[in-house]
Amino acid sequence: MAGKSFFIDTTKCTACRGCQMACKNWNQNAASATRNTGSHQNPPDLDGNTFKLVRFSEVEDNGKIAWYFFADQCRHCLEPPCKDAVEGHVSDGVIQDEATGAVVYLDKAKEAPFDDVKASCPYDIPRKAANGRLVKCTMCIDRVSSGLVPACVKICPTGAMNFGERDAMLALAKERLEKLKGLHPKAQLLDADQVRVIFLVVDDPRKYHKNAVAGLKPSTNRQLARRQLLKPFADVVRAVL
Ligand code: SF4
Ligand code: SF4
Ligand code: SF4
Repeated sequence: MAGKSFFIDTTKCTACRGCQMACKNWNQNAASATRNTGSHQNPPDLDGNTFKLVRFSEVEDNGKIAWYFFADQCRHCLEPPCKDAVEGHVSDGVIQDEATGAVVYLDKAKEAPFDDVKASCPYDIPRKAANGRLVKCTMCIDRVSSGLVPACVKICPTGAMNFGERDAMLALAKERLEKLKGLHPKAQLLDADQVRVIFLVVDDPRKYHKNAVAGLKPSTNRQLARRQLLKPFADVVRAVL
């Protein structure tokens, strides 16, 4: 298992959006056409030019407005459903890098039906670029394979974004969780045993974002149920081959 992981401590995030800008800069992504939606979140969603988005969620709690910040991106799932969805249509469309665990789309992935791939992701991450390519966060595989940390981690001024060996990130996440639990009984790590981007939140994850944890998106629930149903058959086929 090993490989790399991120630990994103939302309690340290000030929503400065440095990570969002650094991601655009490193990937040479153009600005996205946007509009005022009455929120500080900008642009309104991930898109073909935006692989990292700081989500601003404004929630009314006992007559007071509370702000929740969530620096959203691909979670680099340990068993990525989007990879299965692409490979159901084309081979060699997605790689899962052995050294890091990064899930990276290749050009051929665009040949898979976009709606199927998007629906397969529990976190609603994949997007289509203007040139038709399937896109999302790459874990900055080009930087990481040269010994650098991802651009979004490098820029973060508060220590909210962390990156390193998976065991070290899990240890850091658990240590921080233990410290916060006394003050915040709802503190939790999101899907830590399923993903390489581990978020720490201190309240109901749905207050941060509707797809903050797996299992909240109805289309994905159906996909996950189908995967569970087919898994024994897939295991048998693999064993025979
Ligand atoms: Fe939050 Fe760090 Fe991103 Fe700023 S750079 S928005 S503090 S995660
Ligand atoms: Fe963007 Fe790289 Fe961070 Fe992914 S790892 S969100 S591609 S800066
Ligand atoms: Fe694929 Fe979504 Fe998992 Fe990223 S978060 S690896 S896009 S299924």
